[in-house]
Formats: sequence, C-alpha cells, structure tokens
Amino acid sequence: MAVAAAVSSSSFDFMLVGFVDELDKIETDYLKTASIKPTVWWRYIDDIFFIWPSTPDELFSLMDGLNQHTPGIKLTLEHSLNSINFLDVTIYRDSYHKIQTKLYTKPTDSFFYLHYTSCHPTHTINNLPFNQALRIKRISSTPEELKKSLTVLKLKLNRRGYPSNVIHQGILKVLNEPLSISTNLTTTNPQTNIVTNTTKYYPKVNLRSIITTNQKRLENHGDTESLHNCQIRICYKRNLNLRDLLVKSDIPNKDNTKPHGCYRCKRNCICCNFFLESTEVISRYNGKIYRINNHLDCNTKFIIYLITCKNCRIQYVGQSGNSLRVRLYGHNNDIKKFNDTPVAKHFNTTGHQFQVQIVTKTSRNTNVRLRHEESILDLLATQAPGGSNEQN
Ligand SMILES: [Zn+2]
Ligand SMILES: [Zn+2]
Repeated sequence: MAVAAAVSSSSFDFMLVGFVDELDKIETDYLKTASIKPTVWWRYIDDIFFIWPSTPDELFSLMDGLNQHTPGIKLTLEHSLNSINFLDVTIYRDSYHKIQTKLYTKPTDSFFYLHYTSCHPTHTINNLPFNQALRIKRISSTPEELKKSLTVLKLKLNRRGYPSNVIHQGILKVLNEPLSISTNLTTTNPQTNIVTNTTKYYPKVNLRSIITTNQKRLENHGDTESLHNCQIRICYKRNLNLRDLLVKSDIPNKDNTKPHGCYRCKRNCICCNFFLESTEVISRYNGKIYRINNHLDCNTKFIIYLITCKNCRIQYVGQSGNSLRVRLYGHNNDIKKFNDTPVAKHFNTTGHQFQVQIVTKTSRNTNVRLRHEESILDLLATQAPGGSNEQN
C-alpha cells in the first residue's frame, strides 16, 4: 500500500537557516537508519512530500520518531490514499489509479493579483496572465483540469481590471506553445558586457528610449566612455506602496524595566568580543551624540548598528533585520573572503581594529528600516570620505 503524505513544519520561531539545517539532519541521520524508507522524499524549504510504501500505522510511528529525533521541531502530517495537497499542487489518483496533478489554491486565497491599473512597468502587468496560465499548464496533468483552472483564472483576472484581450492573448500563447517555452529564455551573447541600471519605476519616464537616444553621447563622454559596446539593462525596484506608507510603525515602546544602552549578551558570542557597551553613540566625524533609548544586546533583532575602527576612528552605519550576532557573521565572512564591501575593504588592510555598537532597535518593515538607517547615517556623518559608508 502506498500512502502519499505531505508533511509541513509548524514551528516558525526558528531562524529559517537553523531550521533547514535541522531538516537536513533529519534527512541524513534519521531517514538513513529507518527500517522502512519513503519511496520518494522531496522537500521545498520546510514542506516535504513523500510517498510511503507501508501501512498508516508505520507512517505514524515514523512521524513520532522524526518529532522525537529533533526536539523543537514539530512536523505535522497530512496523509491520504487518494489525494494530497502540496504547495500549489493537488496530487491525486484518477479512476484508473493513475497519478495526476492539478492546481491547488487555499480556501482562503483571495486572488489579489497585481491590479491592471497598478503603477508597474507595462510588460510586468501584461505578462501576468501569461505567467499565471503557464503555471497552471505546468501543474495540470489533464486537459480537463487545465481548462477548469484557466476558466477560473480568466474570471479572477477580469475582476482585477485586466481587459479580456490581454487575458486571452496570454492564455492563447501558453496553449499554443510547448511546455518547454519556459526554458527558451532570451540568451545574450556572452561577449556582450551588460551594465545594469537599477532604478525606481516612473510611468511617465521612458528610460529605455532616453538611454537608446543618448547612448552614443554617453560613450563619447569621458566619465561614461566605459559604456562603449555595453548593453544597458534596466531593472526596476519596487516603489513604496500604500502599505509601506500607511502601515503602523512597530518601533516598540521604550522598555523601562531594563537600563537603556547596548550591552553584551554575556554568552561570549562573536559579537561580545567586539562590543563596546555604551548608553550613547558618538560621531567621530562631527561629535554629534545619539542617546540609545532601548535596551539592546547581541540578540536584538531589527537594528541599526555602528562599526568603529578603534585605530583610525572611521565609522560605518548598517542595518539588519536580524540580530547583530547574525549580521557580524556576514561581515566576518566578507572580511575573510576579501569581498568588495566597505567594511571588508577597511579591515583587510593592516592596522585596524574592529568595534561595534547597536544604535537603536527599529522597524520590521525593510523600507522603514532603510530610511531610519539613512537618517542615523546622516546624523553621525558616516558617509565617505569622512566615514566608511559609500555615497548613494
Ligand atoms: Zn554576545
Ligand atoms: Zn581603521
């Protein structure tokens, strides 16, 4: 008897990296020694699909074993003889006992596709029906299911303002082409140098045509002559959306029970070794002082931090959605690998000594955090040439 089972984890407090490490261990340690092994075992981050070649009782004892093997991780099991949902796919047996697949959408899915009038590059919006239809075609193993899911897609896209002809063209393109179109990506001549220009998207500015009309001029100018024979690629980064602008700030209230300032966690972590415990940070460039108004330590997440070279007193401001402890592993890695980052470049030359402080706890929202970082960076004047932060 074969039982298809999808397993997913339900403890999200773990840092994902640590978590996946643990799952790796399950795969290498526990499963190898299990008396009955799944016939397939496929994992996507922390969701696992496997086919079980034995009885449900044996399956439950495997699950118990797995959960006891790694304390702190709780795997929850969904299993069925006939049909199971895994990520966005339902895997089921048809009436001939053949395994088929179809699109799975969560009952709570509100189908909030990007609205047709949203301020995004036209190609992004116009390609959405095609991309969604392609996803459905890849997932649906029978023409009936494909047709059913495409009908639902048409309806949902219509409700999001997509004109019928845009939807129709996208779907038609998917239906007319072989499934392998996804791999026919446009390839560029490896000899061509590609220069990427990343910018925010402004609907009224046709950047592509500005660059095309001025490319010759750029190539002939002393500052930009390196663009000769280069292909300029434009990449758009996301603008602030209403959610970013309106979301309630989650900078926490001041914690009055513990002393304000930044302190070692006292577990002798990588951070403790380089930490300067203090109640304020001082700009070595303009003498300005920022008083720390939370209690912070090596494990505080969502932070802005300040690195100071004890010898030449040059400073660098950075932000992290993680703790300083985790962030310092990143800096340490950059230094070890001689990466081209301001911090690594400075501390890879001789005669410098690393010291770090946390300036403040800040928002979980990356955009808000980046803006906060910018204001601290301005206050402490850590931009080059006075400091170590690169000029924007
Ligand atoms: Zn520490
Ligand atoms: Zn230095």
